[in-house]
Amino acid sequence: IDPARIRNFSIIAHIDHGKSTLADRLLEVTGTVSKRDMKEQLLDDMDLERQRGITIKARAVSMRYTHHGTEYELNLIDTPGHVDFQYEVSRSLTCCEGALLLVDAFQGVEAQTVANAYNAIEHNLEIIPVLNKIDLVHARPEEVKEEIEQTLGLDAEDAIGCSAKTGLNCQAVIDAIIARVPAPTGKLDATLQAMVFDSVYDEFRGAIIYVRVMNGVVRKGDRVKFLQAGTAHEVVELGQLAPRRVPREHLSAGQVGYVVCNIKSLGQVHIGDTLSVAQGEPAAALPGYEQPKRMVFCGLYPSDGQDFENLREALSKLQVNDPSFVFEPETSDALGFGFRCGFLGLLHMEIVQQRLEGESDIDLVQTAPNVTYRIKVKDGDWIDVHTPQRVPANGDIEDFQQPIVRVSFVLPVDYIGGIMKLCADRRGVFVRQEYLSPTRAMLVYDLALAEVVYDMHDRLKSITRGYGTMDYELRGYETGDLVRLDILVKGERVDALSIVCDKRDSETRGRAVIKKLKEEIPRHMFEVPLQAAIGTRVVARETIKAMSKNVTAKCYGGDISRKRKLWEKQKEGKKRMKSIGQVDIPQKAFLAVLETG
Ligand code: GDP
Ligand code: MG
Repeated sequence: IDPARIRNFSIIAHIDHGKSTLADRLLEVTGTVSKRDMKEQLLDDMDLERQRGITIKARAVSMRYTHHGTEYELNLIDTPGHVDFQYEVSRSLTCCEGALLLVDAFQGVEAQTVANAYNAIEHNLEIIPVLNKIDLVHARPEEVKEEIEQTLGLDAEDAIGCSAKTGLNCQAVIDAIIARVPAPTGKLDATLQAMVFDSVYDEFRGAIIYVRVMNGVVRKGDRVKFLQAGTAHEVVELGQLAPRRVPREHLSAGQVGYVVCNIKSLGQVHIGDTLSVAQGEPAAALPGYEQPKRMVFCGLYPSDGQDFENLREALSKLQVNDPSFVFEPETSDALGFGFRCGFLGLLHMEIVQQRLEGESDIDLVQTAPNVTYRIKVKDGDWIDVHTPQRVPANGDIEDFQQPIVRVSFVLPVDYIGGIMKLCADRRGVFVRQEYLSPTRAMLVYDLALAEVVYDMHDRLKSITRGYGTMDYELRGYETGDLVRLDILVKGERVDALSIVCDKRDSETRGRAVIKKLKEEIPRHMFEVPLQAAIGTRVVARETIKAMSKNVTAKCYGGDISRKRKLWEKQKEGKKRMKSIGQVDIPQKAFLAVLETG
């Protein structure tokens, strides 16, 4: 096919602004999927995506459409809407020449509208503003146009108003794609050069690799090479997605499709890799390739220690489908044997956990998430630490760094004060404030990722009564005033309960942990002191009083069956107890601390 008749585009939007619904309408208008076969939101085919109503992974779909007698190939490359998958978004945008910037005509510009639009501008895409949901009686298209111009500096004069729900004006969207999105510029007679922008796992075929051909042609039976991975394979099948896989003989410059190469695991496929020829001189590798960055870590433990091997199996199975998730065994003196797991971000963590629960029946304990710290050990090297308990003693640390993110909040102006106070409390650094309209504003702060992970999203929602949205991007690592805070029970350190926090928060954080422990640990025959300490310096303390003698006396006596019941109960309880020194700590107590941080 002549590249002049190809249009590659994506739809970028804030969550819930109608991206999936519009994609469905486009499939319908172009006759790619008949009305009869159209189940709602065809592109979101993972159960979890349906449940949560969000798009998790990028997809692609090819449509044919005849316009003024010429047949065009329109490739819609769907991008994940969430910051956790920013790198995949960026790879997908590299495969497009244009983007529909979809904005809810009632809600207006939101945090992810801005983040995604900037991203598209950075990739030099032609941006077509589209105002969706104009069927709503409260739609305010004129104001939203102004918000787009104000925040993004785009010309929104010709923005298309449509309703993805009713289909109103969706035809105009297609016409605009053909008229305004530039055709790809690749050369058909050059050496094969294709971008790997996504991959999915198929039980029977193994890895299905999604590519955009930049130059040249790839044919069935060709020997191809992945330039970053350095591996060569034979193409056993290739084709287009419409949206089911439709095999073809070849894919040429400008086209988007899938390639199957007998690759058994997704771990061998790197998003952002370049596909070229295996024989002769390969094309240049496409720029921008990166390893996935795991930003957030947590411990996953089976409630029942017997399930350890089952959990390992379940995690391995998940990793086949999602190589950006990593795990390794760890032991905790509180929780026994489990795994330390790394994720791209908080949503990614939640998705993995939900999938584990959905696909296996292992009862899980998840510890509070933490970020990766970079530590320069005195007279030693820099190390990356994913677990607070592995942070060296404070005296041994020369430099203690943490990831910093730039957070953008979009919110009604009434709540600016509340969010400014929240950010100040969390030691955020103000970057800028902008008005999107007389009633809505954008606030930008640099904050420690640890603060964002802790509870930022919940606090934003409660302060703005649900009207605020946020988004963040990684800025890099910075030295912080950080300490490892230890929890001691009767003088012994409980390593699973160590946390990393800002020195200035250590007293508050320590006190909160100790208070929870005090509520959950039963009385013993002796006093149990609880302490929070930085090294040898105690910053908070509590004491659980000793049990008085006659309370125990009461337990004995009574009839034999009652006694037996008591023993059974004690045996049950024993299993869930962990002894630290002479103190029995119920698992419940650990959970109260570990699950909330
Ligand atoms: P996404 O998160 O951007 O993919 O958004 P969805 O396509 O899932 O849509 C979010 C919600 O908005 C759903 O309940 C849709 O039915 C609804 N919706 C989408 N487009 C329209 C529209 O044009 N008008 C109205 N009234 N509702 C819409
Ligand atoms: Mg969606």
